[in-house]
Amino acid sequence: MKLNDPRLFRQYAYVDGRWTHADGGREAPVVNPANGKVIGHIPLLEAHQIRACVDAADVAFAAWRALRADERYEYLMAWHDLMLAHREDLAQIMTHEQGKSLADARGEVDYGASFVRWFAEEGKRALGETMPSHIPNAALGTIKEPVGIALLITPWNFPLAMITRKAAAALAAGCPVIVKPANETPFSALALAELAERAGIPAGIFNVVLGEAAEVSSLLCAEERIKALSFTGSTRVGRLLLEQSAATVKRVSMELGGNAPFIVGPDMDPKDAAEAAVAAKFQTSGQDCLAANRILVHESIHDDFVEHFAARMLELKVGDGLEEGTDLGPLIHRRAVENALGIIDDALSKGASMIGGDQAKAPGENFCMPTLFTGVTPKMRVWREECFSPVAGITAYADEDEVIRLANDTEYGLAAYVYTHDIRRIWKLLRGLEFGMVSVNSVKMTGPPVPFGGVKQSGLGREGGTTGIDEYLETKYYCLGGL
Ligand code: NAD
Repeated sequence: MKLNDPRLFRQYAYVDGRWTHADGGREAPVVNPANGKVIGHIPLLEAHQIRACVDAADVAFAAWRALRADERYEYLMAWHDLMLAHREDLAQIMTHEQGKSLADARGEVDYGASFVRWFAEEGKRALGETMPSHIPNAALGTIKEPVGIALLITPWNFPLAMITRKAAAALAAGCPVIVKPANETPFSALALAELAERAGIPAGIFNVVLGEAAEVSSLLCAEERIKALSFTGSTRVGRLLLEQSAATVKRVSMELGGNAPFIVGPDMDPKDAAEAAVAAKFQTSGQDCLAANRILVHESIHDDFVEHFAARMLELKVGDGLEEGTDLGPLIHRRAVENALGIIDDALSKGASMIGGDQAKAPGENFCMPTLFTGVTPKMRVWREECFSPVAGITAYADEDEVIRLANDTEYGLAAYVYTHDIRRIWKLLRGLEFGMVSVNSVKMTGPPVPFGGVKQSGLGREGGTTGIDEYLETKYYCLGGL
């Protein structure tokens, strides 16, 4: 990997401001999913090293919470500026470990940094309230205080932005953080640690621990001194972490899986709608919790839509994310490809028709070719499961009541897309859809100002927006009596 600044590529954990080896000598390789080559190794820390990280964060907390909000702002903005100054290197590291195209990786650096700027500002607006007193001779109000050490467990599909969206909010609120990145994509997290150090963020405030995921998480969830847990990942692991956090009654925020419907109304131009659906489906090779998973098209334009969708889909270039012009990189590992192939076999065996999906053309064993199914029914895995791959299913519907029922037929409730210009139809769908986020006539929906999160089994809490910082703040009520 050629970097302008090779020191951004770190193969240690980062604990208490120190680059740390594994005391037990255990380590794990990290591979580039595009070619299977090992790009580096990470240490798997021992339990006592993980506990030492909590000790360090606990000590560092006192001084960090005592800073003024505008002082924390300066640290965060220095971190933000360094991210943008090293955008190209951060993108290179991300593409090497995650596989996404360099264009997507650069976009993620910008997106990730934008949360740091947002929360740097929001930290200055962690306002309390005063309220008219019902108690004689008293003044009543609230103060916002940092909740304490926050544990941040993040996935491999957005190795940088999922960290900054959480860490910036926690740091701005006055909380130290312990980041546990996915072992598939640790180097983006470690590059962020290097930049945090250069930004002058004090030792013990931004830590990155590495180890066996289940081992590290169960140890840290049991830690009394960790007060908040923010997790992005699968619903399966989210449930497990909720159970593990119950004993110490942590503040939890969960951004879990999605199974987004993409609804197209009868008034839409099928070509425009198909272009948008392709964009909503294939970003990060479909490994995106916001990826359109079930495409529901009004029966009157279904066939035209399918034709345009297929034509656009078949133009997508599949290859190494480092090559110019690549639209779709590899999936994260072979297991993910096998899961996608299982979903494809299931749809075929249950009578769906396939377009694309010519696996013989895949440029390597971790690649999955874009695949479209028509005639999809709710019995198929392509409908029920979050595909997390470039596999899409299209179903025709007759009217709004039917499409609302179909769209809500999932345990997930993260995001939904609606494409129509009919205001009455828009309002009905907006109110009827059981999803935390509904995007009308726009593929792009996320960013710092909006509350990101799901309902049902897609999660708890919201990240970003004016309430994102609340996940890391306690509200202390005071009654000043005897006045
Ligand atoms: P995952 O749940 O397997 O892993 C996420 C994190 O949990 C990683 O750090 C992993 O190392 C850790 N982990 C794995 N097994 C664990 C265990 N037994 N105990 C404790 N920790 C464990 O998820 P993933 O495959 O890395 O990411 C894909 C999932 O994340 C998808 O379901 C996707 O929808 C979801 N996701 C959600 C959002 C959102 O904001 N809602 C964003 C991105 C991804």
